[in-house]
Formats: sequence, C-alpha cells, structure tokens
Amino acid sequence: MGSSHFNSTNPANREDILGTFANATLDECREACLAARKGFEQWKKTPAPIRAGIIANFGKLIEKNKEAISQVLTREMGKPIKEARGDVQEAIDTCYFFISEGRRLYGQTVPSEMENKELYTYRRPIGVFACITAGNFPFAVPSWYFIPALVCGNTCVWKPSEDTPRLSLIFAELLYAAGVPKDVFHVVFGSGSETGANLVSLVNEGLIDKVGFTGSTEVGRKIGEICGRNLQTPCLELGGKNPLVVMPDANLDLAVNGIIWSGFGTAGQRCTSLGNLIVHKSIKEPLIKKIMDKVASIHIGNPSEENIFCGPMMSERFLKKHLENLDSLIKPHHRLITSKNGQITDQNKPERFSGNAQLGFYAHPSIVDNVNENDAIYSTETFGPLFNILSFSDLDEAIYLSNKTGYGLSSAIYTENIESSYKFRSEISAGMTSINNSTTGAEAHLPFGGNGKSGNGSRQSGIWVVDQFTKWQAVNWDV
Ligand code: NAP
Repeated sequence: MGSSHFNSTNPANREDILGTFANATLDECREACLAARKGFEQWKKTPAPIRAGIIANFGKLIEKNKEAISQVLTREMGKPIKEARGDVQEAIDTCYFFISEGRRLYGQTVPSEMENKELYTYRRPIGVFACITAGNFPFAVPSWYFIPALVCGNTCVWKPSEDTPRLSLIFAELLYAAGVPKDVFHVVFGSGSETGANLVSLVNEGLIDKVGFTGSTEVGRKIGEICGRNLQTPCLELGGKNPLVVMPDANLDLAVNGIIWSGFGTAGQRCTSLGNLIVHKSIKEPLIKKIMDKVASIHIGNPSEENIFCGPMMSERFLKKHLENLDSLIKPHHRLITSKNGQITDQNKPERFSGNAQLGFYAHPSIVDNVNENDAIYSTETFGPLFNILSFSDLDEAIYLSNKTGYGLSSAIYTENIESSYKFRSEISAGMTSINNSTTGAEAHLPFGGNGKSGNGSRQSGIWVVDQFTKWQAVNWDV
C-alpha cells in the first residue's frame, strides 16, 4: 500500500526501529472505506451476541499476550513499562465490560395513543466508522472506540498515530485472530496532515457515516467542521488544561503524590495531565518544596526498566514542541523550577535535555510559578512534563481559576473538608472530577470525556457509549 514509507522508532533509543510502514494515499483510504461499506452489509446482520462473543475472544487474546504487547508499547511509545501494562489492561477491561452490552442492545415497546397500534424502537448500527487517534494511549483509546463500535454492528477504518503504527497492527491482527472479518476492520497508516485529512475528506463523498477523533483541539475543530457540513456529529475527544486545587486543610503528602503523578506521569503526555496547580497562598512555598523534594527522588530513564517513573517524550515532534513552549510561553515574571540529575534549580532560563540526550527524546520535569490568568501559558495545553502554579485566597477564586481556561476535561481538589469538596464538585465545569485523587485515571465503566475546548460532549466508556454507535429506529405497526 502507498507510495512512500516511514519508520517507527523507539523514542528512548532512536537506533531501535520497530518497523517500516506505507503512507496510505487518498485512493487507498477510499478503497478501505468502500471495503468497510461492503463488510457492513454482513456484519450488521451478524447477531449482536455473536459479535460480542468475537470481542470476548479478542479480550482473551490480549490477556494472553499482555506482557509481550506491553513491552512493544513501551518500546514504541516510550511510557514506562508499568504504565504500558495499565494501557493494555484498560483494553482488556473494556472488552470484558462491553461484551455484555451485546446482549443488552435493548429497544423498547411504547404505548400508542391509538387503538390497534404497536409501537417499538430498535437500536441500529450507524455504518462505517472512521477513527483517528493520538499515540499516547495506543491500546486503551482504540479499545474505547472499536470495541463498542464493533459490538454495535459498525465497520471501522482506523488512522492511528504515526508514532505507534506497530501497536495498531498488533491490535488489528488480534481482532482478526479473534474472528473479526477482514472487511469489517481496516487500518490505514500515515501522517495526519495527509492520510488523516484524506480519510476525513471521504465524509464529503458519503463513504463514512461517523467519525471519531482523539487529538488536539485545533485538529478536532477542522474535523468537526467537515462533519458538521455533512450533518454528522463526530466523537471529539480533545485536549485539556486540567486544574488541581490544594486547600490549606489538605493532606499535603497525599496531594504531592497526586500532583507528581498528574503532572509528570507519562511525561505529562496525557489529555488529563495537570495543567494548572492552584494552591492556597498560605501553603504555596512549603508545597513547592515538598513537590521538588519528591521530584528529585523519581527516576527518569529507560522506560523498559521497572523502577522508572518518567520515560522519554513520545517522539522528536513532542520534545521539540515542549522546548518551544518553554521558550515562548515562559515570561520574565515567571519562575521556572526544574530538576536536573536530582538537583533542584530555580531559574528563568529553560533547561534543554536530560537523560541520554543523544539517544532519546527526554525532557526535565519542570514547574512554572507566578502564573496568572492573563498569561498564555495559563490556557495553553503544553502536553509535556510541565505545569503551572497559581495561588488563590478563597475557594471561589480557586474555582474561577479552574474554570476560566476554556477547557473542561478533568479536575481535582485536595481537601479534608466535605463542604469544600461538595462546592468544588458542584461548581467545576469539567467532564471528570477527582476528590483527593489525581487528575488522571479512567475506568472502563465510567464515562470519559470533556466539554468546551476538550470536546463536543461525546463520552467514551460505560454503557452510555452505546448512544454514540447506534441510531434509533421507531416502528409504527398498524395491526
Ligand atoms: P494531533 O496532532 O491532533 O494528532 C492526533 C491524530 O490526528 C494523529 O493521528 C494525527 O496524525 C492526526 N492528525 C493530525 N492532523 C490531522 C488532520 N489535519 N486531519 C486528520 N488527522 C490529523 O494530536 P497529538 O499532538 O498527536 O496528540 C496530543 C493531543 O491529543 C493533546 O491535545 C491531547 O490532550 C489529546 N488527547 C486527547 C485525549 C482525550 O481522550 N480527550 C486522549 C489522548 C490525547 P499523526 O500524528 O500521525 O501525524
């Protein structure tokens, strides 16, 4: 397939190549969609419990191969091996949670206003589902889309991230081995600006019935426009600038653990990563000291090693973007606090690299203090091991600062006070809220998604996702 090729490389060791993949052309994307349309004719007639049985096989195959897949995931994407196992486990959990929905695609009987009328509703599959994903959760995120899409009777065309094609191939091969017919599930490889844009353009040709997109707000807007012009509602799962509030009564040790994990887990490359740490002014300096003491003890390095907390960034593109952010968003009134070789430095010049700079795409965990709501860095998603600190005087101000970025994905508060917890939970504008827990985290049975610049209100996971992948048919039977 395709006339040009690209390599998938290990971000912790640029000399380690995981494979060479062909860039799919517009014609090849079209062929995949046409084949998926053909596959739909049979797949939609396959009883839902049988489709779910095939997905159960998929879950068993992932489980059997979990360690091997996790090792490839760490090599290709760069997240530490413990996190990679969690990424793969999420796909297993999603399979085992969702397969029961294959037996529960219920319709309803509805009482009629007239005599001798029978009214029913059915859930029907939507058709061809085209999906484009980011690379930071290369097994979990596709499972959230494709497991429900397939169980509900849709066929799929997937353009995965250019950074994780090998994982996507493994995902597809396991689906085929589980019994998903080849014409039901298709993968097209290539860059977003070409293959991704080509695939989405086929909405205009009527070859795609629904689009799913996980990625940046900027690209999500473009995709949303194309879908909107064709009167389609896509699933848009976009960026975040997630707040974490620390009240003066918080358990600071607990908060520090949550802050480090939210800010620097996955090298800050999560949509739910901490963006703005919003701290009561009375505890700001002691909290910063505690955070940096903890940062000095975390291990940064080869993500395949068990004790590593922070691996490299996903690819050169992400490291470059992170360094550009440090250069352009940090202003003279900010205080950059960073950790290098266990030593804390307090400075206003960005650090460049850590770890093995020649081989891998590593970045120092860093914090930007003295940020205020007018700074660009306050409302710009940086998607790297970097978060801001803002201070507040009362909870109303903390909630205001939490809500003002325009994003609305995740959020957290640390407090020992039940009234503060309740007020925050009721007034925060975010799809997900944690109390005394990190901003990150997802479970297969809980809706995941955001509002505002974080998405168009679609949700992944849980039983509600059935609404994304089916359409209602109302039947009016004159008996
Ligand atoms: P991105 O640049 O928007 O890319 C995401 C995907 O879209 C990739 O497969 C990319 O291709 C493709 N793409 C890029 N331009 C495109 C275009 N014009 N048309 C069609 N497809 C296009 O995002 P990223 O920087 O890779 O990923 C990080 C972003 O994803 C962050 O904003 C993060 O918050 C967000 N994210 C959100 C969630 C969520 O559930 N809300 C989860 C994970 C990540 P290539 O990269 O292969 O070229």
